[in-house]
Amino acid sequence: MAIATINPATGETVATFTALTDAEITEKLDRADRAFLAYRRTLLVQRTRWLHNAADILERDAERLGAIITLEMGKPIKEAISEVRKCTSVCRYYADNAPEFLADQPVDTDAKFSYVAYQPLGIVLAVMPWNFPLWQVFRFAAPALMAGNVGLLKHASNVPQCALAIESILLEAGFPMGAFQTLLIGASQVADVVRDDRVKAAALTGSEHAGASLGSIAGECIKPTVLELGGSDPFIVMPSADLEKAASVAVIARLLNTGQSCIAAKRFILHETIADEFLAKLTEKFAALTIGDPKDPTTDIGPLATPTILEDIDRQVQACLAAGAKAAIGGSRLDRPGNYFAPTILTDLPPGCAAYSEEFFGPVALTFRVPNLEAAIDLANSTVFGLGASAWTMIDVEQKQAIDQLDAGAVFVNGMVKSDPRLPFGGIKKSGYGRELARQGIHEFVNIKTVWIGD
Ligand code: NAP
Repeated sequence: MAIATINPATGETVATFTALTDAEITEKLDRADRAFLAYRRTLLVQRTRWLHNAADILERDAERLGAIITLEMGKPIKEAISEVRKCTSVCRYYADNAPEFLADQPVDTDAKFSYVAYQPLGIVLAVMPWNFPLWQVFRFAAPALMAGNVGLLKHASNVPQCALAIESILLEAGFPMGAFQTLLIGASQVADVVRDDRVKAAALTGSEHAGASLGSIAGECIKPTVLELGGSDPFIVMPSADLEKAASVAVIARLLNTGQSCIAAKRFILHETIADEFLAKLTEKFAALTIGDPKDPTTDIGPLATPTILEDIDRQVQACLAAGAKAAIGGSRLDRPGNYFAPTILTDLPPGCAAYSEEFFGPVALTFRVPNLEAAIDLANSTVFGLGASAWTMIDVEQKQAIDQLDAGAVFVNGMVKSDPRLPFGGIKKSGYGRELARQGIHEFVNIKTVWIGD
């Protein structure tokens, strides 16, 4: 895939970039390696100051950065600006809390004194996706840099200007040269970077295929990884739920970022007694959305990020329709330039069609009817994914059943699945492993060192 900025709303190629050569990659690795030797010795209090500066820069430049996101991957501008603001929150969260998360933990043993220390590993490679091009990177970079690691970013090939902007922000914030560098490289160049002895660990957010590829190479080299992969999150609605509220939240849960989110609610599993009423509300709300130019602040639904994403979602929807599913609304591409697909609700999905097993990465709600909560949980758990799950019920025992029995990295009751710096984020099954964010996230890429001191 060429490294380029291609406007998803028009198809116009705005800028192209040349991938780094092997020699240039080596130079960046050398610089990162040298930077680590000095950076690991910087005081944590100094690192927290730099991260606070980064938060201030993100706040100051939210509109400029939001415009780059919108240009490169088509996110409606109001969402792009709030993505930048969310990055400020993760920077401030780790700047404020890293000293506590990384403090030595005394442990009572037979030693005169023993404790657990958290020390950096070295260079950590981050391979990141385009769908939240700033948020995904800052939620990696903030804890990694606080822990004393240095970062290398291989961003998705369609968001090079976002990638370069992130490096500039961190440099302007005061982080030393080499502490965080962007590598403009293609996917095929990642393996050699992972294999380089100076790279000590890697994180990847993206598809199952990319995760398996990076994870297997890192495994051969015995390097830790965190993989945040795909999802097909269920959104279960039971009769006791506040249907109006559930339907309003469902629209955001499915259509935020034009449906291109790993934790989007993708399968709406509805109790049969409220399914018609819920569907009527959902359809009405989908119909009221403004589809348009992502630069327009009134736009709710923009283009998909690339022609490939558009082709994939179109193929999946047409296959479901051909198998007998019905479209309550939408069901096709929009007849306009750019990668636009109509917000779609599919019903009557025949067992065995793609909706039961594949991730739908676009503005398409898949709906299913079930007779009871057991059937809802069985259907929810029947995919290879296990990222998030949302369950709507006012009944305590049903809430407990959903929390206990849904196979997912997160269960949200009467709310949509979302990321929050204070809560760990990650999946199980083919949605990946490891956790980002919160205390757990900063402990993924550290040497948890046992210290024992005798008399
Ligand atoms: P993708 O193709 O896997 O791309 C993600 C990143 O991996 C890009 O930087 C890409 O580079 C790189 N890449 C691709 N193939 C690779 C390989 N074989 N080895 C090393 N790197 C490789 O993912 P996508 O389809 O663009 O993104 C959407 C997917 O990401 C969805 O499945 C979504 O659910 C998932 N996602 C998960 C989370 C989460 O937190 N769990 C968050 C967001 C997205 P190029 O761009 O150069 O190909």
